[in-house]
Amino acid sequence: MVHAPNRPPAGAPPVRINLYSDTQTRPTPAMKEAMMRAEVGDEQHGDDPTVHELCDRMAALMGKEAAVYLPSGTMCNVIAILTHCTKGDEVVAHESSHILHSEGGTHAALTGVQILGLKTPRGMFTADDVRGVIRPKTRYAPPQRLLEVEQTANIGGGAIWPLAQLNEVADVAHEQGWSTHMDGARLMNACVGAGIAPKDMVAGYDSVWLDFTKGLGAPLGAVLCGSEEFIGRAWRWKQRLGGSMRQAGICAAACLYALDHNIDRLAEDHANAKALARGLRQIPGVEVEEPDTNLVFFDIKGTGMDVAKLQEKLQMRGIAVSGLGGRVRACTHLDVTAPMIEEAVGEIRTALAAA
Ligand SMILES: *Cc1c(COP(=O)(O)O)cnc(C)c1O
Repeated sequence: MVHAPNRPPAGAPPVRINLYSDTQTRPTPAMKEAMMRAEVGDEQHGDDPTVHELCDRMAALMGKEAAVYLPSGTMCNVIAILTHCTKGDEVVAHESSHILHSEGGTHAALTGVQILGLKTPRGMFTADDVRGVIRPKTRYAPPQRLLEVEQTANIGGGAIWPLAQLNEVADVAHEQGWSTHMDGARLMNACVGAGIAPKDMVAGYDSVWLDFTKGLGAPLGAVLCGSEEFIGRAWRWKQRLGGSMRQAGICAAACLYALDHNIDRLAEDHANAKALARGLRQIPGVEVEEPDTNLVFFDIKGTGMDVAKLQEKLQMRGIAVSGLGGRVRACTHLDVTAPMIEEAVGEIRTALAAA
């Protein structure tokens, strides 16, 4: 059977406190209002003014020449890799990266690249780590073409790459003649957390994308940015993959709304994540990684309960968390308030006390 994530067990109450993912936010009435008012056209034909406005704003925000609106972050990664690479090329990335773990094997099935995963702490690596995997340019070795980073590093604990380190690894890649790509699913969390402007954060990267369905609270869409030439070639892949849309402005309007209203407030999610980590740390047997942003990973091995059991117990109390790599992940976002955090800590404490 195909895994259906977060299907509540029979008899579970509706989810009251959703720490499962920042993808599960619901559009607010004000965001829906902006969608209702959107001017639309045929996006595939280049006639949707709201999509153009979103792409122009995103290109400016990222300091890139051009941008393209896509249905999902996964499609941004797939199209970026198809545009940067050809079959048989190698992509250097982190071992825990989304492209390796969470894209359904698309890089074997569709892009034809192989991915070399670096095994380093917290989803981040250094210039020396990259130098350590440079292959000789012979006909035996796979041609290395692309360096990929995640900002923030999701399975790395929502960690923020320091800007200097991002630039150093990008420099090594460029010295080798590789391109650089940033998976910026939660880029704005990194920018708000570090107090660094997006265009400075991504300056070392030839392509970068931002997800509007994570902390930014839009119902769908992601924007991939790069040079005019790169985005022109990416459009061909968008068309080939069936990612060209019609009156997509109705969704782009939600993204524009998110750019105006939902970025600065990410600081609240980070404060809530820190409060959650502090609360969880008081529970015997729980080990908590200090969060940089909105993802709180904790280990409950010391309590004797396994992750699936905790998830089930919490679900029966209307609380959703996820399990990732043997740890529990709790994610804060715009539908999670400070009182909910306090309540969740209490419920987790009670659930674990039964172990
Ligand atoms: C969510 C996520 C993606 C994929 O984005 P979708 O919009 O879910 O397709 C890619 N990379 C990272 C790091 C993510 O967290």
